Amino acid sequence: MQRKFLWGGTSGDKEKIPWVSWKDLCRPKEEGGLGVKDLKWFNISLLTKWRWRLLLEHGSLWKLVLEAKYGNVERVKLVLPRGNKFSLWWKDLVGLGVTNGVEDDWNQHVFLKKLGCGGSTRFWLDRWVGLAPLCETFSRIFKVSLHPECVIKDLGEWVNDTWVWRLAWRRSFFIREEESYNNLMEIITPVPITKEEDSWSFIDRGMFTVRYMYSYLYKKFLPPSPLVLCSVGVIARVWESWAPLKVIVFSWQALLGRLPTRGNLVRRRIIIDGEASFCVFCNGARESENHLFSSCGTAWLVWSKVHRWFGLTSVLPNFISSLLESFLTCYRKKKNGFKGVLLVWHAVIWVLWRLRNERIFSGTIVEPSEIFDRVQYVSWKWLLAIKVNSPCLFYEWCVNPSEYIAR
Ligand SMILES: [Zn+2]
Repeated sequence: MQRKFLWGGTSGDKEKIPWVSWKDLCRPKEEGGLGVKDLKWFNISLLTKWRWRLLLEHGSLWKLVLEAKYGNVERVKLVLPRGNKFSLWWKDLVGLGVTNGVEDDWNQHVFLKKLGCGGSTRFWLDRWVGLAPLCETFSRIFKVSLHPECVIKDLGEWVNDTWVWRLAWRRSFFIREEESYNNLMEIITPVPITKEEDSWSFIDRGMFTVRYMYSYLYKKFLPPSPLVLCSVGVIARVWESWAPLKVIVFSWQALLGRLPTRGNLVRRRIIIDGEASFCVFCNGARESENHLFSSCGTAWLVWSKVHRWFGLTSVLPNFISSLLESFLTCYRKKKNGFKGVLLVWHAVIWVLWRLRNERIFSGTIVEPSEIFDRVQYVSWKWLLAIKVNSPCLFYEWCVNPSEYIAR
């Protein structure tokens, strides 16, 4: 449903082509994506919040009800009761981190026990030192323990402000077990036991937030962006503009190389290769995003005029992402004007595409100088909508754009 909304298709329509993959749309903006929420992972993040509350909220009624039904629920690792005596919600909750097509139990890396006096941490069964519970690491002597279920607090005592372990066994050790016991003591002795209560921490942040949980899962499970790292940085900045959102989204799609250009249509076998795939402006090369908006003679003339308009002299690059980068570099120092200048950048891309369409679909031919006029006009209109309280005349905008942007 989300997908259809984005690409403008409705149930009655023919399927629209998704020009950008859903995975890439869900990437955060700083990674070159659109920052759309992936509902599956967002849902899991919301569910995980319940796990956090199970660990933290002592004595609340809802938790007591769950405990009556499922036993101790204050655990990172939960197990389903036998039979069918559980709700679907509980099943989802127990399955978090293990059953979502994922091998390792990420709950263990998300909810970290901060050990205090050990009053709610089971010595053998919970993970509190090392990477696994001690019953797994020292399975041999675990079987001989007299208190396999006990919490840490009950397996030692304070003697003159020093914690002393009092582990008890069902019988004396064999030689192999003796060795194992020494290793165990070596591991647990340095762990500081305090007089504070045990507590929980969410990753390294302390408190749980759904937002952070989502970004954690996203980073862990989504494959890295296929975009080259340098262009990711540039593309991420495309949003810092006063241009209308739909325009920015369009430029973003152009930067990713995912517009329905003739080149892309050939690649998807929607049109045949040949003259029909050439640029409508110059008829000299296959139409791609880089050609249309950057290396084409028409685009080049428009960009030169824009540069002169802003009093800039710089070499015009052949790639649309480099074009954005050069814009960003020229205006790095002018903090105030940044968003406004980028608005003009978007206006060029937008106007070029509109005129390209007019040429294809209604045969209208427009000279480069006229294209530039349109860029000035369109950007002025967008800017007026932003600066409602300090409008300027079109004439003023054409004469001194930087001054108006900074105002
Ligand atoms: Zn061209």
